[in-house]
Amino acid sequence: MTDLIQRFLSGDRRALARAITLVENRSSEGQGLLSAVYGRTGRAHVIGVTGPPGVGKSTMVDRLAAEYRSRDKTVAIIAVDPTSPFSGGSVLGDRIRMSGAAGDPGVFIRSLAARGHLGGLSLATEDVARVMDAFGFDVILIETVGAGQSEVEVMDIAHSTIVVAAPGLGDDIQAIKAGILEIGHVFVVNKADRDGADRTVMELEVMLDLGQRELKWRPPVLKAVARDGLGIPEAVEALERHRQYLDESGSWAALARQRAEAKIRQIVIQRLTEQVSRVSSPVWDQLVDRVVTRQRDPYAAAGEVLKLLRLNGDS
Ligand code: GDP
Repeated sequence: MTDLIQRFLSGDRRALARAITLVENRSSEGQGLLSAVYGRTGRAHVIGVTGPPGVGKSTMVDRLAAEYRSRDKTVAIIAVDPTSPFSGGSVLGDRIRMSGAAGDPGVFIRSLAARGHLGGLSLATEDVARVMDAFGFDVILIETVGAGQSEVEVMDIAHSTIVVAAPGLGDDIQAIKAGILEIGHVFVVNKADRDGADRTVMELEVMLDLGQRELKWRPPVLKAVARDGLGIPEAVEALERHRQYLDESGSWAALARQRAEAKIRQIVIQRLTEQVSRVSSPVWDQLVDRVVTRQRDPYAAAGEVLKLLRLNGDS
């Protein structure tokens, strides 16, 4: 274990891959590694890329990575696919080759699938992102492949989120559900080589103006042709401006604090839930019996359970 941490800290990519697997599987080794490297986290700019399927998110993510590389920033990519049973790097092998990032030590790609994450996909994504952050990547791009609630949850760990749309889909805007509209900091209408891009930009602008959002950061709506790399530098500029805004407004620090609090609370609740579910069944059954026969009320019974767990039973 200490050997793995040493190799990780010395920048060994194979140690990084191994560390991610351990963390993803929520093994005790993984937890130990996270604790050991936690002090090195908090530096990476975590960027979410979301939007309806087929709008060009993957293409965009690869281009964004290349643009950041041209600015001497190192980039890690997490492709979150709640519909796929396979996690790991191999699935993305073709993509790495296509993007020209193969052999570039400044780029690391990992896919995460839904299956097998006890604490949920968002928790796994968060922990993997933290490991990448500790490894020293400047930028972490998190791309969600699926649609729905998981997108919003996953994006909860990003500092900046790009919402990608495309013209010509008619109900495309509807597909960008209200929840996703609210989490976007930069909007990009991709496939601007097609008709209707300006109209989609306008529709988004109107929706953003109507929505009562935090006034200090008005999300820009940009156009891009990700396939050809057009509009990508502008998207990165917008992300850099958002990061600067977070810094200068104190939001970066506030967000860190808010998330640390939420995280501790989440872990405490998770552990308590585990403890409660471990209350031995004879005791449990007896308590249930007493409530059923009206010898106890449910509150008193719950109080007894908490006392058994040596927690404060008063509420
Ligand atoms: P995702 O499902 O959102 O990740 O979308 P993909 O990145 O897989 O792209 C879906 C399809 O759109 C692919 O065939 C891409 O080659 C294509 N595509 C991506 N960007 C553009 C673009 O700017 N213009 C056009 N016309 N097609 C694009």
